[in-house]
Amino acid sequence: MDLCRFRYVFGPVRSRRLGLSLGVNNVPYKTCSYSCTYCQLGRTTDLTIERRPFFEVNQVVNEVHAFIDRFDSEVDYVTFVPDGEPLLDIRIGETISRIKEVTSKPIAVITNSSLLYLEEARADIAYADLVSIKIDSVLCRSWKAVNRPHPDLKLENVLAGVEEFAKSFKGRLVTETMLVEGFNTSAEELEQISSYIRKINPVKAYIAVPVRPPAESYVKPPEPSKLVEAYTLFTKALGEDRVELLNLPEPPEYKVYGDSETWLLNLVSVHPLRLNYAVRALERIVEDPLAVIEKLKMSGEIRVVIYEGEDFIVRAFNNQRLLK
Ligand code: SF4
Repeated sequence: MDLCRFRYVFGPVRSRRLGLSLGVNNVPYKTCSYSCTYCQLGRTTDLTIERRPFFEVNQVVNEVHAFIDRFDSEVDYVTFVPDGEPLLDIRIGETISRIKEVTSKPIAVITNSSLLYLEEARADIAYADLVSIKIDSVLCRSWKAVNRPHPDLKLENVLAGVEEFAKSFKGRLVTETMLVEGFNTSAEELEQISSYIRKINPVKAYIAVPVRPPAESYVKPPEPSKLVEAYTLFTKALGEDRVELLNLPEPPEYKVYGDSETWLLNLVSVHPLRLNYAVRALERIVEDPLAVIEKLKMSGEIRVVIYEGEDFIVRAFNNQRLLK
């Protein structure tokens, strides 16, 4: 299979949690049950809780297979981390089982956890090796303000679904809590989030802050003192070895797979990339990385935006190339 034609896999992306992770994009752009204010993909355009089929399982599995065949030793995880909520894909369970037939690489799913109240959704990811669940808030007001959920979702159902899943899941369960200054950072709220997380007993609780351009410009990372307070409360509840801060940019991408333009477009569609990281990666295979970036900018396929004083490349979705 021609690596330039990949539609459903991207990266691999280096991350502190998963090492080198091959991304699987099993949901079309911005189909999500949440429209988080900090979302690095922009506002949700299809806010839904209806699980449905999106892509052909065979095609997704064939792409994962083709990539792994060629770069097997380099990939640590195959990770479902799409342009929206992965559990909206009603075929995710089948896709995971089929990927497990073609590779022994561990499979991770990064979910916002809003659909775990559905038994079928819990069953679909029961055999993943790692599941990361989002718990930004356990209070209705801030949950609505930060995650902007689909109106038919109820926080008590979401939390009950998370607890149910945590009880039965045999793989590695981790949580991720994104802190947004002034929205879910009060001492009372942090205390409640950390005790809730203690109850579901993950192997690791990650505390994240917005480090990439968010959907809403008013989103800001918390002050360092607030981050220390959150860390302290979490470690009191869970112990130091089970809490980690994700307040730094992910390590840079160094290796480009396939054609430079496709690699960059696929990556930035799910993962805004620091401009200087992109240049460092691209200069390994092209003479003039800035020319590649400029060409995509001129064609309207990417944009460069500034967040917290740094330049990021983001995908411009209103002018999407079909090869994505
Ligand atoms: S951050 Fe995740 S859950 Fe929130 S809107 Fe974006 S894709 Fe959906």
